[in-house]
Amino acid sequence: MNSNGFINVVGGGLAGSEAAWQAARRGLRVRLFEMRPNRTTGAHRTGNLAELVCSNSLKSDEANTAPRLLKDELRAGGSLLARLARESAVPAGGALAVDRERFSALVTGALSNHPNIEMRREEVVAINTGGSDEITVIAAGPLASPALVEAIGGLTGERDLYFFDAISPIVDGETINYDIAFKAARYGKGGDDYVNCPMSKDEYDRFYDALVAAEKVKPHEGMTDVVEDGEKFFEGCLPIEEIARRGRDTLRFGPMKPVGLPDPRTGREPYACVQLRLENLMADAYNIVGFQCHIKYGEQKRILRLIPGLENAEFIRFGQMHRNTYICSPKLLRETLQMRAHPRVLFAGQISGIEGYTEAMATGMIAGMNAARLARGLATSAPPRESAIGSLTFYLANAGAKNFQPANTTFALLPEIEPELRRRLKRKADRHRFQVERGLKAFNDWLAQIGEGGQATWAQTV
Ligand SMILES: Cc1cc2nc3c(=O)[nH]c(=O)nc-3n(C[C@H](O)[C@H](O)[C@H](O)COP(=O)(O)OP(=O)(O)OC[C@H]3O[C@@H](n4cnc5c(N)ncnc54)[C@H](O)[C@@H]3O)c2cc1C
Repeated sequence: MNSNGFINVVGGGLAGSEAAWQAARRGLRVRLFEMRPNRTTGAHRTGNLAELVCSNSLKSDEANTAPRLLKDELRAGGSLLARLARESAVPAGGALAVDRERFSALVTGALSNHPNIEMRREEVVAINTGGSDEITVIAAGPLASPALVEAIGGLTGERDLYFFDAISPIVDGETINYDIAFKAARYGKGGDDYVNCPMSKDEYDRFYDALVAAEKVKPHEGMTDVVEDGEKFFEGCLPIEEIARRGRDTLRFGPMKPVGLPDPRTGREPYACVQLRLENLMADAYNIVGFQCHIKYGEQKRILRLIPGLENAEFIRFGQMHRNTYICSPKLLRETLQMRAHPRVLFAGQISGIEGYTEAMATGMIAGMNAARLARGLATSAPPRESAIGSLTFYLANAGAKNFQPANTTFALLPEIEPELRRRLKRKADRHRFQVERGLKAFNDWLAQIGEGGQATWAQTV
């Protein structure tokens, strides 16, 4: 890769697409390198940019939640992907979910037609750090190609930083038995966007016993220790068999919790409940929420069909597990997402040590913004700690390096409220509202202060 005068963005996923857009809209010339469709990753299926590899949900869109704060900050920063996510939204109760094909087609169209972006459909296998004109944003994702991972390892001195993630099965909506399954959102919030499969104690026990006895996919050679060591899984994305392994009831307090979902046939909450979420606008495909797993396909079919309402289900995709590559960012990155040792190299997205679609867009936004500032000779800047995006970049640069794990946006990542104010804000909901208002204000003030404010070119749609 030798592209003096250009900002090079490696990877046209969620982070790279947003980074490319942010630099291009500021008038900089961008080369966006995406290896698909010539070479793929094992989880991606198309050659489109910003393909969502698993769930179609960008998490909660409800006011005064941490994921919503993140979306509001993306909007304030003029994010392309956050806007196109709204344009391709499908009903999902209190969450923002998208029609994945429409979303990535819109992103691909917007970037391919941008006069400042040159699309390069090729695999990047080396990273130049020396050229004085050269700026590189590495956003190659958790499934970065092996040759690039090796090049990154050479650059960072950190090798073999990977563990495994899992993806959930998708059910053909026409094969769900609605004599048993019913449509409702938890606590009646958001209409009929979810399909729910209620279970009695006997049905749950049968399912549980089959699950813990299920034959798992054998890990690839050399990866056994990583799969067998539960610590290496990202806690927010544990495979169901791993959750089940931790106790008979853990699923009932996790992805199979029945609270707020009374079965219309009895009027009572069931013993356990499996939720399915709409995958696309055609309402013909449903993701089994939180059911990522690493079980052999034949076994998955047999076990998932033990779920009442899915006894004849056909599966469009089975659950799978994948490698997840990320760097030890507390050792390597500044809060601006520049490498400490090579300030003209920036990281964004999952590979930088964050987790989640929206988080990938957010770090892409900051990396693209800072790459553009570098190119224009301006000081780079980090978003404020109080904001959702700033709390992510703060975490990346300041978390403990030992046992570093990717993080997603939660209230826990935001700074605590001062004890005096905390005493006054007795209700959790009030404390969350305070954190959200403080975060968004800090983010907007920061944008204005560094001269990046007023960039949002699209209206608030919610
Ligand atoms: C299996 C799996 C399931 C996940 N499920 C979810 C989920 O349900 N919800 C959620 O919020 N997050 C999920 N994540 C985590 C994360 O949010 C996604 O991986 C997200 O796509 C990360 O965005 P990204 O831009 O960092 O990477 P990606 O979106 O993967 O983009 C990276 C891009 O770089 C390209 N690339 C790789 N190497 C090269 C190279 N050498 N040269 C050129 N291009 C290259 C790839 O083809 C890809 O297009 C999942 C991750 C995995 C691995």
